[in-house]
Amino acid sequence: MAIKKILVASGGKKFYVRDMDKDMHTQYGYIPSADLKKAKDGAKLVSNTGKEFGIFTPFFIDMYERIKRSAQIIPLKDLGSIITVTGISKNSKIVDAGAGSGALCCFLASIAKEVVTYEIRDDFFDIVKTNIENLGLKNIKIKKQDIYLGIDEKNIDAITLDLPEPWKAVPAAAKSLKTGGFVVSYSPTIPQVMDFVNSITTDGNFVYIKTIEIIEREWDVEGRKVRPKSQAIGHSGFLTFARKIR
Ligand code: SAH
Repeated sequence: MAIKKILVASGGKKFYVRDMDKDMHTQYGYIPSADLKKAKDGAKLVSNTGKEFGIFTPFFIDMYERIKRSAQIIPLKDLGSIITVTGISKNSKIVDAGAGSGALCCFLASIAKEVVTYEIRDDFFDIVKTNIENLGLKNIKIKKQDIYLGIDEKNIDAITLDLPEPWKAVPAAAKSLKTGGFVVSYSPTIPQVMDFVNSITTDGNFVYIKTIEIIEREWDVEGRKVRPKSQAIGHSGFLTFARKIR
């Protein structure tokens, strides 16, 4: 069932209302269905235990945070760099592989013109299909195909690779990208980065741009307790960027 409304407790914790015909139970007590139904966005709701909530219609990011997960999804900090380094926009045509849970391809579809994502596993294919439907995305196609064997789409602005052997997709990427187009590889380990950069540079069609690691450090800001959070996200992956020049 789709998410209908977001409830935010004072303190910031979010709750997702899917069924407006049921009372919404939270760790701070419950809000009766009748109150949910008559509340306009921005209304103040109070639970049976006296806790205050705000209510609003979900944004894309609220729905995105609730997608079904199978494979490890790409964190937002890394997604942000893919978008800003490549300058992906409403005019961009993108190819992505492997789809995994569909996190990367669905986010890209929310800002790009069209996205085609490749996935070889049946079970992941079905999860991505569900996520695409739940997010209401119409400009994304999923193909049950091995990207190492070729990319059907031509004149592509950017290709994102999040799979175990991204270097195997380099010849296909060279044929699919338009001149100036980006190939981005996201890999957890340095031997993968080495093999990818090696294949990019020996291929002859690309210029290597850079490899980066994004480290995000969130802070607690509570009165005078202002300091980095004691628990942080550990390592996710390295991002390697190259452009097709021939
Ligand atoms: N970026 C995704 C996660 C990808 S996980 C997300 O954010 O949700 C890696 C996926 O690549 C797995 O689902 C795996 O099945 C798929 N995969 C591996 N090799 C592949 C290939 N040659 N072609 C297409 N998909 C492949």
